[in-house]
Amino acid sequence: MDRDKVKTEVLVVGGGAIGASVARHFALAGRQVILVDAKAKPGLVNSSRNSGVIHAGLYYANSPIKEKMCIRGKHLLYEYCREKNVPFQQLGKLIVAQASEEPLLNRIFERAANNEVPARLLSGGEIQRSFPGLSCVAALKSPSTGIVDTQSLIQSLVLDFEAAGGLLHCRAHVLRIETSAGLAQAVLEDGTLVTADIVINSAGLNALRLVPPGVEHSYENFYLKGSYFSYTGGVPFKTLVYPLPSQGGLGIHLTLDLAGRARFGPDTLAVSNPDFTVRPEDRLKFGAAVKQYWPGCNLKKLSPDYAGIRPKLKLEGMIVPDFIFLQSHLSGGSKIVSLLGMDSPGLTCCLAVAEQVFEMT
Ligand SMILES: Cc1cc2nc3c(=O)[nH]c(=O)nc-3n(C[C@H](O)[C@H](O)[C@H](O)COP(=O)(O)OP(=O)(O)OC[C@H]3O[C@@H](n4cnc5c(N)ncnc54)[C@H](O)[C@@H]3O)c2cc1C
Repeated sequence: MDRDKVKTEVLVVGGGAIGASVARHFALAGRQVILVDAKAKPGLVNSSRNSGVIHAGLYYANSPIKEKMCIRGKHLLYEYCREKNVPFQQLGKLIVAQASEEPLLNRIFERAANNEVPARLLSGGEIQRSFPGLSCVAALKSPSTGIVDTQSLIQSLVLDFEAAGGLLHCRAHVLRIETSAGLAQAVLEDGTLVTADIVINSAGLNALRLVPPGVEHSYENFYLKGSYFSYTGGVPFKTLVYPLPSQGGLGIHLTLDLAGRARFGPDTLAVSNPDFTVRPEDRLKFGAAVKQYWPGCNLKKLSPDYAGIRPKLKLEGMIVPDFIFLQSHLSGGSKIVSLLGMDSPGLTCCLAVAEQVFEMT
């Protein structure tokens, strides 16, 4: 049986925050774009399973691409939210240090100063006066950190995309991306074959698997799950509170949503398959982590909420700390760009990643 054949200038696989931003960018530039996503609507995977934080750009000394894109992406995202009325709040955050952690806090502060990211160190005394419930010896205040309503953001990106003539297909599962006669094509589960001048593989957890055979690389995937526990009854803080980063994550922190609801997370747990369930028995572990900086935390108020999964990469056994843009130019003129390792702060960076991908192709 003949498969349906479709041709387009640009095909974007994956409608998370990054794929939707990339598709929007190309459509606004007047290109003919198709965006496909396996789920019933865009943004249902990691883009809605995160802290919803607009990061300031404080943590990425070993990840130059993330650092550059986070700082640029933060500005673009605030500007975009203001322009499109996407709900957000620039409520700032504190990174709190316990006794042995001050050197690391100071290094984060120095890096912020070098990168002109607003940040201020607070002494123990200042913290006691302004945040009486917090337990720490010093803290870094980051006024440019904020939160965004991720669902509204993705909806708005997709609306822009469609208004610019882009075509969105949901429940369109890409089985593989392949090359034929120097052209790039995607094979969908329903048999459709989409040929495109440019294919952007932005399939998040599945992006590495979709890199076409023949594109040389030695990356391996691994998944780090991050779970959240919600906190009933509210917390006495109006700002986000983070410990120092540890074990591949930013530490179990307090994040607030736009309705003021509090949740703590994410932890880091290596998993072999994406599984988004949150284990109720982890409550004690979460409670202990939170009590280090907020002794008033009541464990009975913690309830399992949701989880996301970081798509991490290894190269020759070493963890790759940065985003990877894996490009291939085919003899027939097609280009394929695979976006790999798009973990945090990918939400913050989504508009900057779109700029970068557009410039590369
Ligand atoms: C626990 C956690 C907390 C985080 N917190 C933050 C934060 O506070 N701030 C921040 O900036 N970043 C944060 N991040 C990172 C951020 O969530 C991601 O970087 C971002 O969502 C990645 O977007 P994406 O579009 O690449 O991936 P996704 O959102 O995962 O989207 C990929 C899309 O591809 C689709 N897809 C997959 N396979 C196929 C296929 N075969 N065919 C068709 N479609 C397919 C999926 O359905 C999905 O919609 C966090 C991440 C995690 C895991």
